Amino acid sequence: MPNLRLLFISFFLLFFWVHSQEDTPIARFRRYLQFNTAHPNPNYADPVSFLLSQANAIGLKSRTLEFVPSKPLLLLTWPGSDPSLPSLLFNSHLDSVPAEPSKWIHPPFSATLTPDGKIYARGAQDDKCIAMQYLEAIRNLKAKGFTPLRTVHISYVPDEEIGGVDGSEKFVQSKEFEDLNVGFVLDEGQASTGDEFRVFYADRSPWGLIIKASGAPGHGSRMYDNGAMENLMKSVEVITKFRESQFDVVKSGEAMNAEVISVNPVYLKAGTPSPTGFVMNMQPSEAEAGFDLRLPPTADPDLIKKRIAQEWAPATRNMTYKLIQKGPIRDYQGRPLMTLTNESNPWWPVFKQAIEAAGGKLSRPEILASTTDTRFMRQRGIPALGFSPMTNTPILLHDHNEFLKDTVYLRGIEVYESVISSLSSFKGESN
Ligand SMILES: [Zn+2]
Repeated sequence: MPNLRLLFISFFLLFFWVHSQEDTPIARFRRYLQFNTAHPNPNYADPVSFLLSQANAIGLKSRTLEFVPSKPLLLLTWPGSDPSLPSLLFNSHLDSVPAEPSKWIHPPFSATLTPDGKIYARGAQDDKCIAMQYLEAIRNLKAKGFTPLRTVHISYVPDEEIGGVDGSEKFVQSKEFEDLNVGFVLDEGQASTGDEFRVFYADRSPWGLIIKASGAPGHGSRMYDNGAMENLMKSVEVITKFRESQFDVVKSGEAMNAEVISVNPVYLKAGTPSPTGFVMNMQPSEAEAGFDLRLPPTADPDLIKKRIAQEWAPATRNMTYKLIQKGPIRDYQGRPLMTLTNESNPWWPVFKQAIEAAGGKLSRPEILASTTDTRFMRQRGIPALGFSPMTNTPILLHDHNEFLKDTVYLRGIEVYESVISSLSSFKGESN
């Protein structure tokens, strides 16, 4: 009698081996997701060599740039038949935010594929999906014999999640970038819970605001004017009113969240410490509060600065302030950092039609509530859109149990095939 058990085990092992050796788009995506590129110690070397091997297999040119030691930036190139035309750049970042494994149903770097097609991984949405979709789309276009007119570049940059200072910012300022003659950029966007793809034409600029009040200290029992706490609380009241005025516009539906100026308190520091907490019968001589401010490109930064100086932290109330501006708010020509989404931007209709040709639809262009590397490209005056083709997907970037469905991922590849072929075939008036 044959040893059925042994036979069964052999089949099982064969099945397992075949699956582990699989070379499908989903298998390649999962392999890329398994590199732990989370801060504070992202592994950049291994995903870069993986991407390099993929680029070699597809037949793309490659270059690894290193503006800061151990922070590689991979640049892949598919030369166009007319290299004199401005090129296209498809950007994504290599790194991801950390994950707390205990809060996940599958380990965050396992890229577990569930029977219903969900791929769980930190970075599945932000933004390792687009990183691999760019490559898969080019792989398919090459297989179909397509040749681009314009040169297509793909960049994989480090450190986006910690501000991009050693990644995109240095890249965009480099001679290497200048030489690419980039005419249009696509970078990451966000998932859409509905049927339409979202597209982002601007980021909000993050500011940190610290306001400090000082005043005469006094006994806790005394009522007197101009105490530090009193002055700080007056400011908090004024800022809260402003916050409400902005939030009301959102609540009434007149604007989207990212289209208004947000200001949120993030810390309060005051009081005289005692061994058991705080001295309760003393009014302190100093008090301070911190705020996170986000400015859409439509806001006038000078007006906000004036408001801070005159109303939020006025010297007349013994107040001082510190403003930490993170990143640019205007481009090199002084224009607001936003990409036009109308006919005056020649790339826009080409992009829009490419989405439609792939059977998709774009929702109303939005401002991104947070900040991405795209701002550095826009600062150079280059039109740049944020776009990650994920529909009917919960927005899980930076969240626990980040996942993307296999079908959504595969559909995204088709969308990029249309986008890359249309944009790279676009002949005219791009300057
Ligand atoms: Zn991202």
